Amino acid sequence: MQTMTLDEYKAAVKAQGVPQEHIAMKCPMCGTIQSAADLIAAGAGADFDEVEKYLAFSCVGRFTGAGSPRKIPDGKPCNWTLGGLFTLHKLEVVTPDSKKHPRFELASPAEAQAHMSSRVAIQDPK
Ligand SMILES: [Zn+2]
Repeated sequence: MQTMTLDEYKAAVKAQGVPQEHIAMKCPMCGTIQSAADLIAAGAGADFDEVEKYLAFSCVGRFTGAGSPRKIPDGKPCNWTLGGLFTLHKLEVVTPDSKKHPRFELASPAEAQAHMSSRVAIQDPK
């Protein structure tokens, strides 16, 4: 289990160098890289504030009718949420009150930027 303080987590988010809605996480079960922009596109909410509660916590596949996690990740989203019965997350963020919050792992800066580019290419083909 990886643990990060809230400050470390925020620093890692900042290190991705992307706008808030493109901050990228990795689902621990299917390995899909996803962001608030994906959740909004999937209909989870209208804007960042509405999808923030799902971010790094529920796989985008929950909002697109994806199936359960496969034994071997196939690159497609799944219906996993860290709010379920099983705690199979890989990262816990520790807040100043010493509480541990399970979260999806953050993507690397390169992954986050590549993910944002791929989304922008879909939304704005040129
Ligand atoms: Zn998933």
